[in-house]
Amino acid sequence: MIPWPRRLRNIIIRALIRAISLLCPPVHTLFSRIRSSPGVPIKDPSTSYWTLCPSPISRHGADGDLPKYADIVVIGSGITGTSFARAILDYDALHGVTGKPLCVLMLEARDVCSGATGRNGGHITPMLYRDYTELKAVHGIDMARKIIRFRLSHFQELLSVATEENLLEESQCREVEALDAFYEPSLYNEAKGKLETYKKDLPEESSRYQIYEGSDEIKNLQLSRLTVGCMSTRGGAVHPYHLVTGILARLLRVYPSNFYLFSHTPCTSISGPESAEGLYSLETPKGTIQTPHVVHATNAWASHLIPGMREKIIPARGVMTAQGPRPGLGEGSKKKRPTAWTGQRSFVFYPSNSFDVYDYLTQQPAADSAVSIYPKSAGELMFGGGFGRDNGFLTEVGNVDDRGWNSRTASYLQGALSDYFKVDDNDSKEEVKATWGGILGISVDQQPWVGRIPATITSRGSVFGGAPTATNLAAPGEWMAAGYTGEGMVHAWQSGKALAYMVLGIDEGGILDWLPEVFRISEERWKEVEIEDLIASFLNL
Ligand SMILES: Cc1cc2nc3c(=O)[nH]c(=O)nc-3n(C[C@H](O)[C@H](O)[C@H](O)COP(=O)(O)OP(=O)(O)OC[C@H]3O[C@@H](n4cnc5c(N)ncnc54)[C@H](O)[C@@H]3O)c2cc1C
Repeated sequence: MIPWPRRLRNIIIRALIRAISLLCPPVHTLFSRIRSSPGVPIKDPSTSYWTLCPSPISRHGADGDLPKYADIVVIGSGITGTSFARAILDYDALHGVTGKPLCVLMLEARDVCSGATGRNGGHITPMLYRDYTELKAVHGIDMARKIIRFRLSHFQELLSVATEENLLEESQCREVEALDAFYEPSLYNEAKGKLETYKKDLPEESSRYQIYEGSDEIKNLQLSRLTVGCMSTRGGAVHPYHLVTGILARLLRVYPSNFYLFSHTPCTSISGPESAEGLYSLETPKGTIQTPHVVHATNAWASHLIPGMREKIIPARGVMTAQGPRPGLGEGSKKKRPTAWTGQRSFVFYPSNSFDVYDYLTQQPAADSAVSIYPKSAGELMFGGGFGRDNGFLTEVGNVDDRGWNSRTASYLQGALSDYFKVDDNDSKEEVKATWGGILGISVDQQPWVGRIPATITSRGSVFGGAPTATNLAAPGEWMAAGYTGEGMVHAWQSGKALAYMVLGIDEGGILDWLPEVFRISEERWKEVEIEDLIASFLNL
């Protein structure tokens, strides 16, 4: 049951939106887009700099024949689908879930890893103190702590995975100093207040925070004198495309007869479940495949195949750029104590007095030589953001066209680094090497959706509660991990892994104690959360 004050607030917001939509066509268009299907991913997306040199598996299975059956079909080859596939295949190889290896088949609409994972900013640094106070207000202190710890666990986990997969160098997975830089005193003071609360409630997790303020400290960081203050902690950065495609390549090598990957094979619709085995039929341009387990790892596109998720996970388009640093940037200020930092720092810049307007930057290392088949990285600045600027939400929320990007945001990003950094007396600028768009999935309650999808949401029948299948997995069904609200690198890996344990039917007895319960999909949550909650949260109502 939605409590009355919230229900009333949402009714008022809904009425206001209706009225504004009548008077303002762009708002009308925005909400029509939000209510529509995102469709399957559009062909020929813009080229992300991360994917400029495609992985050898980028078109894997594009021309292959689709089998008629798989024990599990995963839709989506981003970080979620990859985490799921790795967890379930490696578990099965170790424990032998059934008499024969589990057959897992992955469908990908376009090139492998061509969704948000292959187009993002490469940060593995969660929003911490900034989100903590709101998480605590909404979910209580214990759940807020659990969510923060879940987010933080991603860096160590991804570092271990990259090490185990022998992808440490190729994936550039590394610890960085993660700095938040502020340009408005009021927001900086608010941030410091939030940090105090965070430190009090999570002393261990916050122990590595440092504050930089005063012109000398700011100058040492090579930040411009517009910077009011800065706070830093330890975070992570990664080449997301190399990590994910590297893992999938290993899975294809190690499980040649029970892991199948079909790129350029969109799933266009799902029907079922039919028959005593509870088989779903998935339609693709290559024909139909049947399976008892459908795993939706489609994030922003989830509501195409699950219409019940419309207005629950909302797609939104972001912009990224890759820029060559100006000479001297990353070498440290020569006038003070020079500390070279190329590839070892990441930044979130808050240029206004709102936490909702921010830009984010990671920097690829400057490598001495090429790693495996890929050309050497050259300290490229991977810079994105501008999301909350100039009413950009009007055209970008609900927008799934990643062939392009918002041109105003892009031109802002192409110039903003010269305001953020100052390199001694050098006034040269960054060289823009690439600009691209990417689609993220906003969850209306700002928490991911992880677990079995009830039939009320899929509007397809259910065999939930029936006996486990002959494969000893959980009862047949549809499953999902999605809706990371632009923070997938600190939510998706562990969500995909948790989902694998659920499908394996081994998620009891505390094995998933680390998964925040509020992430789990339930009919109650689905009924309760409304798009008006998201709007209220953005408007601080
Ligand atoms: C511009 C941008 C910058 C970002 N920066 C960061 C960042 O720095 N740090 C961070 O933590 N997060 C960031 N994010 C968010 C993060 O990238 C995502 O949350 C995360 O990558 C989601 O991973 P995923 O595997 O769930 O989805 P995706 O990587 O989007 O994968 C879903 C896949 O499903 C495929 N698919 C969809 N529908 C179908 C279908 N019907 N049939 C077959 N295939 C289908 C898609 O083609 C896609 O490959 C950013 C996102 C964007 C867009």
